[in-house]
Amino acid sequence: MRALCWNGVNDLRVETVPDPKIVNPHDAILRITMSTTCGSDLHFIDGYIPGMREGDVIGHEFVGEVVDVGRDVTRVKPGDRVVVPSFISCGNCWFCRNQLFSLCDNTHPKPELQEPLLGYHTGGVYGYTHLFGGYAGSHAQYMRIPHADVDCFPIPEGIRDEQVLFLSDAAPTGFMAADFCNIKPGETVAVWGCGGVGLMAQIGARLMGAARVIAIDRLPERLAMARLHAGAETIDYTQVDSVLEVLKEMTGGRGPDACIEAVGMEADGTGIQYAYDRAKQALRLHTDRGQALREAIMACRKGGILSMVGVYGLMDKFPLGVMMNKGLTLRTAQQHGQKYVPRLLEHVVRGELDPSFLVTHRMSLEDSPRGYEMFKHKTDGCVRVAFVQ
Ligand SMILES: [Zn+2]
Ligand SMILES: [Zn+2]
Repeated sequence: MRALCWNGVNDLRVETVPDPKIVNPHDAILRITMSTTCGSDLHFIDGYIPGMREGDVIGHEFVGEVVDVGRDVTRVKPGDRVVVPSFISCGNCWFCRNQLFSLCDNTHPKPELQEPLLGYHTGGVYGYTHLFGGYAGSHAQYMRIPHADVDCFPIPEGIRDEQVLFLSDAAPTGFMAADFCNIKPGETVAVWGCGGVGLMAQIGARLMGAARVIAIDRLPERLAMARLHAGAETIDYTQVDSVLEVLKEMTGGRGPDACIEAVGMEADGTGIQYAYDRAKQALRLHTDRGQALREAIMACRKGGILSMVGVYGLMDKFPLGVMMNKGLTLRTAQQHGQKYVPRLLEHVVRGELDPSFLVTHRMSLEDSPRGYEMFKHKTDGCVRVAFVQ
């Protein structure tokens, strides 16, 4: 089959690789019909996070059609169209039973690579380095899904692929981020980042009852999406002296009740702090540029909630004292998709959620290296590229 392979830092190529096979009785094989770029892919494409090997197939946000199942699979069958969360869960361990699906104890085949870094290992992820299990990804014609009964969610009749594509990752991550904010009626939620996850967090916050959503980014087309699709008020941080002061002004001096950070280690920013982070990251002295996160911590009201879903490695100058003195609560996780997908599917069927607007560009799998170039440099208003097969 054809697949998009990582061959080194900034070296992606579409190659012919072996077809996946059923290797245990709980597996399914999908024919991928649509798969999309994700900001977190840029971290290993650029070489900021380790654990990639030459020839690894990347991609973790996708929908497909079941073409084969192992003998113990009972809930899906060939011909079913399904969406699958990017984190793989067994459905059976203590963590899965407590709905902490991305922390599954059974789906990381190489825990010894991760435990020295994290103390304990997470679940596995498709197409996302050997640190996260070394599973083959979704930018391919076919893909193996372990624990198919737990992780494959059938797509309701009449719903198109791109309406549910982002239920694989961006939507559950964003909705989880909003859920972490324990939103009460009348509250204001500020969201740093208007990429896929940030926009989904904004829509999630609205559906969960936030009176106001304030979106912060620098790209006009993304800020326009935040206004149009999430009913957000927006701040272009390149056009103001201080996001903190603007947020204070907008909230009567009190600050947002909850702040969602949906940017991660690729954060752009302005000023001396940003230049310092940028230089250190370029020298690989630390991996993260933390401007958005620091700003969110500063801007959050006293006693508020900081919900962090941007992807981070190591960051220095983390304002821990600010969090402590202001009594902030930090909530964070990789997406527990299996908890959120059923509710998201209901929102889609009822017409309350249609993430398909995130697809700004469509192309074939053969063109995927070019798609990643566009996505990385955000050229031509690119928010997400969908590879259609
Ligand atoms: Zn992702
Ligand atoms: Zn599990």
